[in-house]
Order: sequence, then C-alpha cells, then structure tokens
Amino acid sequence: MSLQRPASVTDAFLQQLVSRVPSTAGGTWKLTEVYTGEVLVELPQSTPADIEQAFVKARAAQAEWSQWPLAKRLRVFKKAHSLFVRNAHKTADLIQVESGKNRRMAIEESCDPPMVMSHYIKHAPRLLAPKKVGGPVPFLTTSTAIRQPKGVVGVIAPWNFPFATGISDAVTALIAGNGVVLKPDNKTALSPLWGITMLEEAGLPKGLFQVVCGEGPDVGPTLIDNANYVMFTGSTATGRVIGERAGRNLIGACLELGGKNPMIVLDDADLDEAVEGAVFGVFGNTGQICMHIERIYLPESRYEAFRDKFVARAKALDVRAAYDFGPEMGSLVSVDHKDRVQSHVDDAVAKGATVLAGGKARPDLGPAFFEPTILEGVTKDMLAGECETFGPVVALHRYRTVDEAVELANDTDYGLNASVWGGDVDAACAVARRIHSGNVNVNDILATAFASKGTPSGGVKQSGVGARHGDQGLTKYTDVQNLAVLKKQVMGARPGQDYDAYVKSMLSGLSMMRKTRIR
Ligand code: NAD
Repeated sequence: MSLQRPASVTDAFLQQLVSRVPSTAGGTWKLTEVYTGEVLVELPQSTPADIEQAFVKARAAQAEWSQWPLAKRLRVFKKAHSLFVRNAHKTADLIQVESGKNRRMAIEESCDPPMVMSHYIKHAPRLLAPKKVGGPVPFLTTSTAIRQPKGVVGVIAPWNFPFATGISDAVTALIAGNGVVLKPDNKTALSPLWGITMLEEAGLPKGLFQVVCGEGPDVGPTLIDNANYVMFTGSTATGRVIGERAGRNLIGACLELGGKNPMIVLDDADLDEAVEGAVFGVFGNTGQICMHIERIYLPESRYEAFRDKFVARAKALDVRAAYDFGPEMGSLVSVDHKDRVQSHVDDAVAKGATVLAGGKARPDLGPAFFEPTILEGVTKDMLAGECETFGPVVALHRYRTVDEAVELANDTDYGLNASVWGGDVDAACAVARRIHSGNVNVNDILATAFASKGTPSGGVKQSGVGARHGDQGLTKYTDVQNLAVLKKQVMGARPGQDYDAYVKSMLSGLSMMRKTRIR
C-alpha cells in the first residue's frame, strides 16, 4: 500500500522513544503501522526483574519529588501544557500510526492531557491543602486531614486511547506527589513514551515516570505487587483480575472498564441532531470508545425517519487510511480485533438480525478496516446484543413508552455511559436520572461528560470502580493522615474525681455539644 508515513515518524525518533523501555532479556515485540501492517519498531519487552528495578528507580525519585512544594511541582505541568499543545500534531502522528484511528480523533486525543493538567493546576492547591477541623473537645483539640501521596502508582492503559489514558491518569498521580510506572498496551506504546519525553523536557525529574512493556498477564502481577495503588483502564474481564490482585495486596485500585452504552431518542428530539450524534457515537474512533453507543432506542413514531437518515449517513461516510483530516472514520486497531467485530456481526446475522448498512471487513482499505455497520432485530441471545462489540456496529430498537425505553436501556450488566435526546431538556434529564450509568449525556453522546474535568467520570455495575476527573480523580492518589492534637489533657476522670461524677459531666457536655454550633 502506498501510504506516506508522517514525516515526524522517523526510524531514529522511534528508536529514541523505545530506548526508554527496560529489557535486560532482550525480547522484543513487533509494533506495526496499522494502516499498512508494516513493522515500525521492535518494542523491548520487560522482565519481572526489569519491572522491580523500574519501581526502585521511581521510588527513589518520588522520595524527593514528594518533598517539592506543590507550587514547584505545578510549574512543571504549566510548562508541559504549552509543550503538549505546541506538539499536538506530532503527537497525533504517533497516535495514528500505532492505532489506525482517523486524524480527527487523534488530534482530539492529543488535547486530553493538557485539559487534565489545566484543571488540576487550578484545583490541586485546594484539594491537596491540609484541612483543619475541630476535634472532639471544642477549643482544646484539633484534627487536620493531611493529603499524602500513595508512593508509586501502577498505571495500566489500553490501546484505544493510549495517550489520553496513559498520560492523563499518570499526570494526575504525579501532581499528587507520586511516582508512576506505566504499562501501555504493546500495540500503542509510542504516544505514551512521547508524552513522558515531553514531561521530562518540561522539568519532570528523570526516573520518576517509568515505563515497562510486555503482554498484560506477563507484566501485570509484578507491577501490581510492587505498586501502592493501581489505575487500570481496559476490559471488564481484565479489570476483575487486576482488582482481585490489588485486593489481596490491600492496595486501592481504580478500574475503568467496558460498556454497552444505550442512546434513547425521545419523541420531541431534533432528529437531524440526534442522527449526527449517533454518527459520532457509533462510528467515532471506529467504534472503539469505551463510552460509545452500541444500542439505540427509538419511539415507534420516529423509527423509520431516524433509521433512513442514519443508514444514508453511514453508507456515505468517508472511510479510509490517511494522515490528514479528510476521513470521517479510520481503521480498527488490529486484524484480531477486526475478526472479533466480524464474529459479532456474523453471529447476529446467523441468529436472525438484519444488516441495514455495512457488515463486512474492507481489506481493500487496509488490513483491519471494517464498514460502518447498522443492525436491526438484534436480541440478547446474540453476542452483539449482550457483550461489548467495541467496533463500528450498532443495533436499532423500537420502544412504545418511555418506561419501556428506560427498562431496555438498563437491561445490561454494564453502566458506563448513556445518551438521551429530547427537545424538552428537563424531561430528558428526568429520563437520564433513571438510567443506571456513571455518565449520562443529554443531547450529546459522550464529549460533554468526558470533557467536564471537574466532575468525576466512572462506571457503575460491571463498568468499573472509582472514577477519573473531579476532586476524587486527584485525591484517590493520596492517603489521608488524620493529625490530631490535644492542647491540654482533659479527657477521662481527673485525679481524685469520682467516676460517676465524671460520667455525668461528660454526658452533659455531650448534650451541650449537640446543641451548640461548636464542633
Ligand atoms: P484489555 O483489558 O485487554 O487490556 C487493557 C490493558 O491491560 C492492556 O495494557 C493489556 O496489556 C493489559 N492487561 C491485559 N491482561 C492483563 C493482566 N492479566 N494483568 C495486567 N494487565 C493486563 O482491554 P483492551 O482490549 O486493551 O481495551 C479495550 C477495553 O477497554 C474495552 O472494554 C473498553 O471499553 C475499555 N476501556 C474503558 C475505558 C473507561 O474509561 N471505562 C476507557 C478506554 C477503554
């Protein structure tokens, strides 16, 4: 295939990036350009001993980093913010070569770490400041909540947003005073490695942010056993494995997992806007967004009108390999993943579903391309009806009443994201509140929720534990020390005091405290 690789992605640059990955045994993994299948670079693979050493180095650097005043730490991220924005196109080049997504999504992804930095540069001073509160005895006691970094955080990132999940979550842990050891997916290690290079250029101490590479089951156990906290983004199946091990080690874990996200179109929705929303929600990032839409529920009265417009848009989408902003959809990440998506469509068709658009791989466009696909008649006994497909595939469903739509939307083990469209925003919000989902967007698919860095974003049910963003997105990377001070010893019976008299005065003090505003 004659496709010109982006000029910034030179062999020398790639070698420089991967040289950061420790690999004493010398094993490598062939990292390929998704659009062509050509090997880009041999990615070093880390042994358990390499991973242990990475933690030793990160821990040594963290001991010093945690002593830096917060304002000095934040100066690094102010500088990094400018560097990330200035280098957005170079970042998008790397994201595209390793993931095969279209340029429009790659450039959007490059903006996530600066958005996260911007938010926490403003809010970290408030969130990490000691909070002094009254103790049990007014005036004589105080207690202060002191935020202390956990130590070294293990971050495990998926391939679908390698730069956003690999760097943004790590940046937050670093701001809180931690070191980080990141394990990106082998397929998409380049953009996170580049992110670390930029952070160090901005002044992040060398050694503080380590990367180890390898297949998940090989790297995971040693990484979790050495970490003080784990931030995992990936599938629900792997999340369960990570959570179990973290639980056994008695360390905290944030698990951001899969979804089977519904979209409900209400009677009074603007149909053109809802169709455009669905085009992004289903086909954006080639359907490989954890918050993307795999089920659309439409009122009987608007089913045909929505279906016809949506199918026409899907069939007309510009799908191809290019390193410019032209294509509306790019490739899936790998041939294996394309086969998995195909198996979901084939299973649905074999069990009676109808293909309204797409349904097939497109080897003429590249090894892992798949058509924008719309299905009708999908039921829960089909893979596409029950499991996350994680590709550009959606099922259309009819509903008769709003209650039925809500019941159908909630009929899943997942609870990551949902989308409700309606002209009456209050009524749409009332429907949104009935959906069991960590995120619900009204008249949008996912961007409003994900870009709201001040609000926690996480999954419920089988979609995860904990959240990124918001106050807890930073404070989860800290332990709270309860520093309590007694200014004068007054607790307990005084020498010579009768115990009955002491208890009487203590109980009356308790009643008084309930009535006063003093804490
Ligand atoms: P995955 O679970 O297969 O892999 C994710 C990461 O975990 C990779 O780095 C992988 O190498 C590693 N891994 C795999 N097995 C491991 C093990 N036993 N121990 C330690 N690490 C292990 O997921 P994926 O296919 O790479 O990513 C797609 C999934 O991620 C989808 O389900 C998607 O919904 C989900 N996702 C969720 C969010 C979110 O914020 N909720 C965001 C992006 C992706």
